Amino acid sequence: MVKHRQGRGALDRYHERRDFSRSTEPRGDVGSTSGNPVFVIQKHDASNLHYDFRLEVQGVLKSWAVPKGPSTDPREKRLAIATEDHPLDYADFEGVIPEGEYGAGAVLIWDRGTYENITETENGPRPMAEALANGHALVRLSGEKLHGGYALQRIDDNADQWLLIKMDDEAADARRNPVSTEPKSVVSGCDLDEIAAGEDE
Ligand code: MN
Repeated sequence: MVKHRQGRGALDRYHERRDFSRSTEPRGDVGSTSGNPVFVIQKHDASNLHYDFRLEVQGVLKSWAVPKGPSTDPREKRLAIATEDHPLDYADFEGVIPEGEYGAGAVLIWDRGTYENITETENGPRPMAEALANGHALVRLSGEKLHGGYALQRIDDNADQWLLIKMDDEAADARRNPVSTEPKSVVSGCDLDEIAAGEDE
C-alpha cells in the first residue's frame, strides 16, 4: 500500500540535507493528523527565488518548488518541481536559512490554510497519497490569498516535474496576480527584505 511508504524514514532526505545546529528550520518528525489537512506556500529567496507549495499528506508535507509561484488564471500552467517531504512543523517556519546551508536565504509564509482533496475516480474519492502516486491530484484550497481548486499534474516520464494549474471555478481570476500584488507574509506581514534584515539584528 502507498501508506506503508510513509512513516519511518519519510523525512530522511529532509534531515540529511540540513545541519540543525546551524539552521533554525524545524527538525520535525512525521506527525499525526487530525482535522482538515493544511497547505502552506513559502516564498523562498534561495539561489533562485521560488515558492514552495506544500500539502499535508499522511503526516508529512509533500512539497513542490514553483519558480513562478501559483496563478489564479486557469490558462497559466506553472511548473512545479517535486522536492523532499518536509515535517508538518515546517508550515510554521519563517526566517533565514544561513549562508552555506541547504536552501540558504529568507523564507516567508506567503499563504496558508487548509485544503480538501477533491480527486475522484470512477468509483468515488481517491485518497491523496494514491492520487499523487498516480500523478494527478485535485485540491480545493482555503487560504488567505488562494482559494478554490488547483490541479497538480505530473508531466509524463519525469517523476519530479509537475504542473500546478488553477481550476476554472468561482475563485479563478485572470486579472489577479497575487504573486506580484500580495508579496507579504500572511503571518508577520513582512516582505522578504524585512525577514532578511530582521535576522541580521
Ligand atoms: Mn525552497
